Amino acid sequence: MRVKSSNNCNPELHKAGAEMGPPTDVQIVTSDGNTIAAHSSVLSSASPVLERMIDRARKGWNSDSTIRILGVPSDAVVAFVQLLYSSRMVPLSSPEIEDVLDQHCLQLLAMSHKYRVPSLKRSCEEAVAVQLTPDNAVDVLKLAKLCDAPRLYQQCAQLVAKDFLAVQESDGWKFVQRHDMMLELEILQFLEDRDERKKRWKQQREAQKVYQELSEAMNCLHHIFADGCPEMREPCTWFESCQGLKLLMQHFATCDKKLARGGGGCLRCKRMCQIFRLHSSTCSESKSCRVPFCSHFKTKTQAEKLDKTWRLLAKKVATAKVMSSLANRKRPEEVDQSWAKYMRRK
Ligand SMILES: [Zn+2]
Ligand SMILES: [Zn+2]
Ligand SMILES: [Zn+2]
Repeated sequence: MRVKSSNNCNPELHKAGAEMGPPTDVQIVTSDGNTIAAHSSVLSSASPVLERMIDRARKGWNSDSTIRILGVPSDAVVAFVQLLYSSRMVPLSSPEIEDVLDQHCLQLLAMSHKYRVPSLKRSCEEAVAVQLTPDNAVDVLKLAKLCDAPRLYQQCAQLVAKDFLAVQESDGWKFVQRHDMMLELEILQFLEDRDERKKRWKQQREAQKVYQELSEAMNCLHHIFADGCPEMREPCTWFESCQGLKLLMQHFATCDKKLARGGGGCLRCKRMCQIFRLHSSTCSESKSCRVPFCSHFKTKTQAEKLDKTWRLLAKKVATAKVMSSLANRKRPEEVDQSWAKYMRRK
């Protein structure tokens, strides 16, 4: 590969392939009038698009096989051709190739997409991603869209969403606002979706917290009635909710309104009833269960069909119960021993 240049292209870039045996047989003309002499065999084997361009040039009146790579500066075309040569001999991850990639990554991404060189395209996407900033995020997002690079597109969109205040100051965003309404809407939609996702995630976490609290209440009921809380008069050191639950039960035992259907007008009794009912829905013990109303609610459940929401609640609480018991499970001694042994070795 040789470059006949009208300006000062970096000579280091042209070394690869220059000493290759056979004479060059194809000319690449760039936008600023430079000519790069190259081997058609190297270009054709790297890129099916360049192969077709060379074939077409040879079949036409143009017997010197000249092809044109336009729209990017000569230096970038030289770098592109050099990489097509070099990648035959050294991996794309080698330091000298990384330098070339870093210098021209945007143009190389566009060319590797247009001329269909997938391995180079992947390396370019990685190099571009490393150089992403709020200032260039919108421009790179546009390029990622044009070059069909979904991963890079996502990375840009995430940066835009994360740092939208800084992105709003960029020339890229200002240009989009003036000239590209569709892209502006697309970006705003992404921001909205992200907020929506965040909101849903927050709701899910809050719901999970409620299921965990209820599952703790279920464990606590078992602790009071089946195990027998040893600290009936003192504040309980076993469960944080034990004292509160015992107070609620004392109230339930003496409240006049509890006999009204579903706890009647008393909210505290209603809550107690729901906790007993939830216990019964998640209890797998037979008639011997000591938790009050367990068998009463079980019989009632068999007679009446449970509504869907309640079934789902019972299922979620049962899952939270399993998860917390797994998290609190004591590791067997042999696991602890092998862990200690492993840590000593490190
Ligand atoms: Zn207790
Ligand atoms: Zn009450
Ligand atoms: Zn029970």
